[in-house]
Amino acid sequence: MAEEMNLPKGDLMKGKKGLIMGVANHNSIAWGIASQLAAQGAEIAFSYIEAMEKRVRPLGESIGVKVFVPAEVTDDASMDTAFATLEKEFGTLDFVVHAIAFSDKNELRGSFVDNTTRENFLNSMNISAYSFVDVARRAEKLMPNGGSMITLTYLGSERVIPNYNVMGVCKAALEAATRYIARDLGPKGIRVNAISAGAIRTLSLAGIQDGRKMIAQGRQFSALKEDTSVEGVAGCALWLLSELGRSTTGEVIHVDAGFHMIGLPDEAPE
Ligand code: NAD
Repeated sequence: MAEEMNLPKGDLMKGKKGLIMGVANHNSIAWGIASQLAAQGAEIAFSYIEAMEKRVRPLGESIGVKVFVPAEVTDDASMDTAFATLEKEFGTLDFVVHAIAFSDKNELRGSFVDNTTRENFLNSMNISAYSFVDVARRAEKLMPNGGSMITLTYLGSERVIPNYNVMGVCKAALEAATRYIARDLGPKGIRVNAISAGAIRTLSLAGIQDGRKMIAQGRQFSALKEDTSVEGVAGCALWLLSELGRSTTGEVIHVDAGFHMIGLPDEAPE
């Protein structure tokens, strides 16, 4: 996707080092963000789950990533090793991108109240919400000069979206966590924000029943009448992670072609 993306080049991230978590393939939102940050001079480390290594390495190398760390967010030992490696390679960090979520796809369909098991509820929360708290605590220790962290969320936290189910509850927790972390780390000059992206075709979206419908409806009912672009999300990430975003923290910023603010669409659904 990088070659198809229109990513402005420059020096906005020159001299900044950071961790990007959640590249799985060339469709990942984290990949779009990584490509944009690299085009602006950032020095980047990738973390990934082992199963994705074959895809993630060549992608990273194509934009100059030299540090690759496996990191399974549910495993403290894996996270300890990942952050020890980061400290050894980078010393300090200026930014973190958290683009990680997971839920059993059998529960991303139908009735939320009937289909949500305790086991998957807790596992989804662990991977999709708690992991940001854990990452923030670890990354803070490597940010003596301040920094900026972002996570990725979706409108299903604020409104009921068919089939999004337990992931909507996870995203609500993630957004609340963003505000609490922002309050705690603010005095240290660390900003913490969430980007609420519109539906984009990725591996994660494929796990949600009728995920493609979410894209089509997003296009039809958004103010801009177009798909959310990865470039738009990456541009917002660049703003938040560079000095351009220096007065913004604790925010959830919608990058969804204006879908979130429409109450009643002006056309009847087809
Ligand atoms: P993706 O599948 O490319 O990325 C999800 C990533 O999470 C993958 O890299 C996967 O390896 C990682 N992951 C899952 N479980 C993990 C674990 N236990 N430990 C470490 N990593 C783990 O899909 P994406 O759509 O790019 O998702 C990135 C983020 O953006 C997610 O938080 C997602 O909820 C969010 N988001 C996506 C959309 C969309 O429409 N695609 C919209 C809004 C927000």
